[in-house]
Amino acid sequence: MAAVSAPRALCRLAGQVRPTLSRPDLTRSLSGVTAARPPRPSGRSGAALLWVPRAGLATRSGPRATASQPLSDPVSSPGADAASVGSLDVAIDAADVVATDEAGRCLRVQWRDGSESLYPFVWLRDNCQCSACFLGHPTFVRSLVLRDLDVNTSVEACRVTSDGSELSVTWSDGHQGTYAAEWLLLRSFRPEEQRRRREEHSVEKSHWNASQMSGKLPKADFQQVLDSEPARLALLLALERYGLVVLQNCGSESGQVLRLIQAIGYPHTTHYGTTFKVTTKADPINIAYTTKRLNMHADLPYYEQQPQVQLLHYQRQHGGGGGRSEFADALHVAAELRRLQPEAYRALADTPVDWVNVTLPGETGRSHHKLFRAPVLQEDAEGRLVGLRFSQAQRDSFFGAPLGVVDRWYRAFALFNRMLNDEEYKVSFLPQQGDMVMFDNTRLTHGREDFECPEQATQRCLEGGYIGLDDIRDHRRTLQHRLGRNEFGL
Ligand SMILES: [Zn+2]
Repeated sequence: MAAVSAPRALCRLAGQVRPTLSRPDLTRSLSGVTAARPPRPSGRSGAALLWVPRAGLATRSGPRATASQPLSDPVSSPGADAASVGSLDVAIDAADVVATDEAGRCLRVQWRDGSESLYPFVWLRDNCQCSACFLGHPTFVRSLVLRDLDVNTSVEACRVTSDGSELSVTWSDGHQGTYAAEWLLLRSFRPEEQRRRREEHSVEKSHWNASQMSGKLPKADFQQVLDSEPARLALLLALERYGLVVLQNCGSESGQVLRLIQAIGYPHTTHYGTTFKVTTKADPINIAYTTKRLNMHADLPYYEQQPQVQLLHYQRQHGGGGGRSEFADALHVAAELRRLQPEAYRALADTPVDWVNVTLPGETGRSHHKLFRAPVLQEDAEGRLVGLRFSQAQRDSFFGAPLGVVDRWYRAFALFNRMLNDEEYKVSFLPQQGDMVMFDNTRLTHGREDFECPEQATQRCLEGGYIGLDDIRDHRRTLQHRLGRNEFGL
């Protein structure tokens, strides 16, 4: 980006004080409370890019996950090491007005470390921090109405305080605003600042295959998660990172799923209810209510707002054999598919599929007809793989795809299914009575082996529920603010 005009106004005051503003490093401060990150999946060696099941592995039982991996030291605080992380020197050396080809008229801020940031006039005016334009604590919202924002505004004058900690701007309509140096730097349009902002407020996914997750399932104690904010933060971080957490010691009473959901946010109610029971029924409306094998799937793909995080509490485990739960990090498997067979990946990412649920009046007296059309693999606007819908049972026989795509799509779908069920990618374990499994239904597929349950034996009884990722991230961020960095003074 090149400045195309000479500075029109130059504001410079020789500041002698170099303020040092403490800026805890959120990423580092949180590292002490999460489960040890497994190594990144290593790519397969060799040039062959066709995926084939590994001989001899397809029918072998999956490894039994017994080792407990505590999520956190329950008494540690993620903010505890923040003070020692270091500090960021933020001081403005000078500010001037420039016009650029790319961004139009901007205020250029020269930082005392020699770097500079450009702020478009309209953005700076829109984000004036004066009490007439922005309501601070406790609402933190812009009160400048859009009708009053002059998109052609210009800077009449600007001034930097002697210590470089503040910039004052007088606008062409006479309005005046003041901006703190750190506030400005955090909002710099420089790619590195924008990347840091994204990283601070999201949790990087750590993808896994079977060998990386078997025996290393992130685990947490149910009561500790309810009682302790650091333990709850550790749970949420592990869930976002790995997509799968096992809570232990949940007891056998009903209501524990809703109790945990309400400690975090709000339940996502579906036509199965706010919470639901999974038991063996004589007249099942869902294959989950039988003892048959449940193929790998993601729940409720026919909802536009697909339930995102599922909780399953094993109130009672069955008395017979079989019934191990199976999980695969399907977004990791899809990334492998993209690497090995990009055309198959594209077929699943580009072809809309019709997902359906038809239910006749049952226990609730209601019938249902839900439809939603979306590809198996969802990418965001930047082409990143962000979610999936996957169900053989709930895929409509109406298939609104171009004729020429159908055969290719089926081959890709079948291949993806074989990969999800391969021992290289899926973990299987038998949850114990009193365990609760919490997993990301938009990232993982889950299934269940068939099981035997003699009539005289204990009958299996699960309670389930859903909560949105918005609530997971929302609560995680507020805990991070409270326990570590305090951006909003909460
Ligand atoms: Zn203002």
